[in-house]
This record gives sequence, C-alpha cells and structure tokens, in this order.
Amino acid sequence: MANLKQERTFVLIKPDGVKKGLIGEVIKRFEQRDLKIVALEMFEPSRDMIDNHYPKYDAWIERVGGKTLSTYAKYGVDPIEALGTDDAHKIGTMVRGWLLDFMTSAPLVRMVVEGAHAVDVVRKIAGPTLPYAAEVGTIRGDFSIDSPAIANSEKRAVANILHASETPQEAEHEIKHWFGANAGFSYKRFGIDE
Ligand code: GDP
Repeated sequence: MANLKQERTFVLIKPDGVKKGLIGEVIKRFEQRDLKIVALEMFEPSRDMIDNHYPKYDAWIERVGGKTLSTYAKYGVDPIEALGTDDAHKIGTMVRGWLLDFMTSAPLVRMVVEGAHAVDVVRKIAGPTLPYAAEVGTIRGDFSIDSPAIANSEKRAVANILHASETPQEAEHEIKHWFGANAGFSYKRFGIDE
C-alpha cells in the first residue's frame, strides 16, 4: 500500500499572489499544517505550457462558463448585455482565453506539496475558486475579494492567488507536466516523519 503520508499535490502561485507578496504566506500556511514542500521554483511560463495545463474538454469549459452564469443570476446581471451571450460554452471559452493572458502576465511559483491527504487539505487551505465566496481563514478568503461579475466586466480571469490540483489523478498529471517525471525531494520532517 502507498504511504498515506506521501500523497502529493501540485500548487501554482498565480501572478496576483506573486505581485501581492504572498509567496511566503502561501508556503507558511502549508508548512504550518504539517505539509512538506518537496519541490519549489519561480519561473516564467510559455503560453503553450499554460494552455496545456488547463483542460480543453467541453465539460470543463461549460462548468467554468456556468459559474459566471450563476453569479450573474444571483446579482441580476444580464449575460447577453455583459458578454454578448448566455451560452455557457462560449462564456467558458472567453474565460479560458483571459486565463491564458493572466497566467502569462508575471512570473509564477510552482511547487509540489506532500503529506497526509495533501490534495484535499491544500484545496481546503486555499479555499473555493471564487474569493468573494471563500471563507475567512482560507488563503483566497483572507487575501482576495474578486468575483466573476467584477473580473468579467474587466475582461480578465478571477484573481484568486493560487491554483491547486483537485484530485490525486490531476495532481499526478500536473506534477509531471510542470516538473517532469521523478520530481520532488525526500526528507524527514521533525514531529511528522521522525
Ligand atoms: P480552480 O480549480 O479553483 O482554480 O477553478 P477552475 O478550474 O474552475 O477555474 C480555473 C480558473 O479560471 C480559476 O482559478 C479562475 O482564475 C478562473 N475562473 C474560473 N471561473 C471564472 C469565471 O466565471 N470568470 C472569470 N473571469 N474567471 C474564472
């Protein structure tokens, strides 16, 4: 059986996280929760690398477009007036394009985080995708207030500080994509591994 303490996940600090000076804060929140940083690097991504990072299949694009439609419904914004369409796929495609612009606008920090239930715990520490709805105490809830309504009106991606893998399968794929096979160092944390 795999070592349960060695689940790995992938984290990318986005341009707003880097430009707000939150690199240390993000790392601190993982380390204080007994998670281990096993790979870490600042770099400038190519548009192609970002394009291949985010899913291209219809269900993902429609899910992202659907988030915009539900916030619009909640706040009484007419999608046709705001974006020229109420089609989830078209809106999702628009958002994906803004995401590529945003993610290539500054250096990013990539890392691999390891520990018990790392995928779920890191997502919990990060908070949900949309900062205006994120609980206080999460990274997104403490350092951002952005929403699709605001971001879309400015024709840009929601600025939410970091990306973190959603499932162990996605984590494995993303670690390979950003670090290659055999990524990550091995060391023992006091109080956890020894
Ligand atoms: P994540 O896994 O929590 O990052 O969220 P998703 O995979 O659903 O979306 C990817 C990224 O697209 C998010 O982190 C946001 O930066 C951006 N995004 C998601 N939904 C919207 C939206 O409705 N409008 C805009 N402008 N950006 C969005």
